Amino acid sequence: MTGTASAKPETTYPCPECQVGALRPAHVSYFSYAYGRPVAVPDFPAWVCDVCGRREYDQAALVELRAMLENDRLDRHRPRRARRRPTVIPSRAPAGPRKRT
Ligand SMILES: [Zn+2]
Repeated sequence: MTGTASAKPETTYPCPECQVGALRPAHVSYFSYAYGRPVAVPDFPAWVCDVCGRREYDQAALVELRAMLENDRLDRHRPRRARRRPTVIPSRAPAGPRKRT
């Protein structure tokens, strides 16, 4: 046993955009909309190309975030957590950027 687990080499992936760079692990700010409300994660795990700067959000983290949001949505009626701010969700789904009148 040499304990190689502690010396984990940095994982990189070949960049699908420029084909020459490597996607390296980084933390970026993630911003998206989920269930009609903005979601911001300041330190989201992602992969950034060192040549062209292409950003790929970490798939596992995305799945985790989605599960978290889904849980949060289902748990909203529970009084366990202190309510910070009521989330206003419009009853009708937005049909597009602009509606024809
Ligand atoms: Zn690239």
